[in-house]
Amino acid sequence: MSTTGGTGTGAERCSACGRSTAQVMRLLAGRAPNTAELVICDRCVRECEDAIADAPTRIPGGGHTCAFCTKTEEQVAVIVGVGAKKICDECVDVYRASLG
Ligand SMILES: [Zn+2]
Ligand SMILES: [Zn+2]
Repeated sequence: MSTTGGTGTGAERCSACGRSTAQVMRLLAGRAPNTAELVICDRCVRECEDAIADAPTRIPGGGHTCAFCTKTEEQVAVIVGVGAKKICDECVDVYRASLG
């Protein structure tokens, strides 16, 4: 529809679901210095919160790493998949809190 190539600042998109700033309320940056270019949107945070509260299903296979803080599965309670990324419960907590 109205995709007339970037108006102003760089078109930031949620790294997980790909929604743009126009489609979400907030984009929150990665928590580790080397993940600062990753962002997650408020919708994904809420979806993750629900997923963790509802059925904290561990992603099978092991050795997963949170894309937003780089912690590994052994360092956090649970890592869930969100869109194209993986996120840990700690990041979801922090992001959720900052959404108010
Ligand atoms: Zn998203
Ligand atoms: Zn994390």
